[in-house]
Amino acid sequence: MIQKERLIGKLSGKQGPCLIMIGGVHGNEASGVKALSRVCHELQESKTELQGSFYALKGNLAALTQQKRYLDTDLNRLWNRKIIKEVQAGTFQAQTAEENELQQLYSALQEILQTEAGPFYFIDLHTTSAQTIPFLTVNDALLNRAFTLHYPVPIILGIEEYIQGPLLSYINELGYVAFGFEGGQHDDQEAYLNHYHFIYRSMEIIGLKKSSSQHYDTLKKHSKGIQGFYEIISRFGLEDQDEFQMLGNYQNFELIAEKEHFANFNGKALKATEAFRIFMPLYQKQGGDGYFSIRKIPAFFMQLSAFLRKRSADRILPLLPGIAWHDRKRSALIINRKVARFLAKQLFHLLGYRNKELDQNHWLMYNREHAARSEEYEGAEWLRN
Ligand SMILES: [Zn+2]
Repeated sequence: MIQKERLIGKLSGKQGPCLIMIGGVHGNEASGVKALSRVCHELQESKTELQGSFYALKGNLAALTQQKRYLDTDLNRLWNRKIIKEVQAGTFQAQTAEENELQQLYSALQEILQTEAGPFYFIDLHTTSAQTIPFLTVNDALLNRAFTLHYPVPIILGIEEYIQGPLLSYINELGYVAFGFEGGQHDDQEAYLNHYHFIYRSMEIIGLKKSSSQHYDTLKKHSKGIQGFYEIISRFGLEDQDEFQMLGNYQNFELIAEKEHFANFNGKALKATEAFRIFMPLYQKQGGDGYFSIRKIPAFFMQLSAFLRKRSADRILPLLPGIAWHDRKRSALIINRKVARFLAKQLFHLLGYRNKELDQNHWLMYNREHAARSEEYEGAEWLRN
């Protein structure tokens, strides 16, 4: 049973695709929850019959009531293989408030997967501490790419290399379409509007509802003409004792010119060695990420990687020195960093791999494409255009 307090709303129409949206995985991000309630209410009032089903869930119940990001630990960093295995085996002992939330959310998701026919779509709604245009955070799998292309907002690919244990990476590993949407700043009215229009736009893409241009157009207007796929090139990490201060008021995706003095770090000026786009600059006191640098992925590169992945070109990788399959299913590679250092990360990305550091000398790289449930989505309208 899904707990009553967790379920914001549930709408079932004809048998068909199933959209699951979660708001408030971070308890200080209520905007998604509010937008989900409003949409559920509107659809019930207008007696709209969906061409499938829709579930709106709350993420971190306890933290939402206290309007805190989390109580004990970040609920969006707990979904690692070890914990999931224990939950599945029934041996998991929740020690913290968030471990308890994880367990309940996990069984809610399982229940939906078992009762609905699918195909399934999972979307996680968030907001950020700094002002931002809306954007998507997407694990780099071809299904995710094809789906998210239908939103007129920028898409950050490959964030999974920088965040450990988010809910969506876990769902992605099961092969489903799953990604996150950041609507804007926590308390900004525009973030709420972005969530509202985003929810409807998602239903339109999936085919739960007829398309109208207003949701697409509003999102397009609010993202100020920035669209397409971006990737993180590097992260400027901070230690506890570091002093870091952003200068001015840089917005996400803003271009910083070569030699521009954009921040101070431990009493020294930080200047751009080359032009780059800034992402998630730190304007608050707390946090281990100073900023990320990102760049737009050229269309050619997107097409080439889709071409190579569809042909499983990654099969040649273990023929190279320093690279071996991690398991029999060939879903991951172990890479000896010393031996394989001549191979650029880009090559692995191209073929669908994202790395996790295993130890000082090795990377473990998972392939997103092997788990993809492509057959289940076959025939979907969004895959054709
Ligand atoms: Zn969040």
